Amino acid sequence: MLDGYGRNIRYARISVTDLCNLKCRYCKPRPVPKLRHEDLLSVDEIITLGTDLCNKAGFTKIRLTGGEPLVRKGIVPIVRGICAVCPDVGITTNGILLATYAEELRDAGIRRVNVSLDTTDENVYRAVTGGDLRSALAGIEAARAAGLGLKLNAVLQRGVNDDPLPLMEYAESVGAELRMIEMMPFASTLRYAGERALNAEEWARSLGMEPSGVDGKVRKYSYRGHEIGIIAALSRNFCAECNRIRITCTGMLLPCLHGAQAYPLRDRIGTEDFKEYLRYVLALKPSSHGLGEGNYQKIDMGSIGG
Ligand code: SAM
Repeated sequence: MLDGYGRNIRYARISVTDLCNLKCRYCKPRPVPKLRHEDLLSVDEIITLGTDLCNKAGFTKIRLTGGEPLVRKGIVPIVRGICAVCPDVGITTNGILLATYAEELRDAGIRRVNVSLDTTDENVYRAVTGGDLRSALAGIEAARAAGLGLKLNAVLQRGVNDDPLPLMEYAESVGAELRMIEMMPFASTLRYAGERALNAEEWARSLGMEPSGVDGKVRKYSYRGHEIGIIAALSRNFCAECNRIRITCTGMLLPCLHGAQAYPLRDRIGTEDFKEYLRYVLALKPSSHGLGEGNYQKIDMGSIGG
């Protein structure tokens, strides 16, 4: 479906919960009020939403996210239902519960998972996320054993992973693609971003990384015999090619991750006017985020759905 700038929007990231079992310092640094159960989209509503997006609006890709999607009760039926209607379904997880779910997710139709992993150092992992690195690594191993494709996503942070070699070596050892993500500032995480964020393009240049290709928003580099992808929403803004929307776990549609606009979609799920409403909202998708001008999102990444 085309937006107001002629971009073909066909990729939705759906948050299935705002709850998370980690507390990543750049993501959701402080507790937010707990949502009432009835405010969350139900399992059936999420499946119908996926069906509407694919069958009525021509979407071809859906990623389930959160919060942490694996803490959502009903995640396996959600995956099964979405996989039945969508050709390309992904899930983004911190991996903590992946050892429990890897085989069930595969059997429900998932072929690959993106696991967020900022470091392979146990103490640093705990300091950044509040969690236990061993659980995340066990999850990655289980995904691999279940035959799932793996991408590892690390948010680039000064003093945490600005030496990327340990992560690169680990990624290679488990057959995963590694992507470093430039930290995006949010209103609630500006202090942490001020201390830790790095310009990913400058960082890659300062290490002498060699550009080796481009794959959508991922710029590939080789470094000391390893491959790495860099996703830099600030230093190399890719809004002109943006093909996505985000839908929160309460059914709000955000045409832009960093935009102030959020449109209620819940009442349209499964209705005749779903497509028309989506067309109306997509016409309002901004041409670009305003991060460079200091227009920071007031909602946390974890509440929107990363
Ligand atoms: N809990 C899941 C996970 O950890 O992958 C899914 C939700 S999380 C919000 C999705 C992704 O957003 C993760 O890869 C996380 O690292 C990334 N993320 C969170 N805050 C970010 C920020 N300020 N800048 C860039 N990426 C961020």
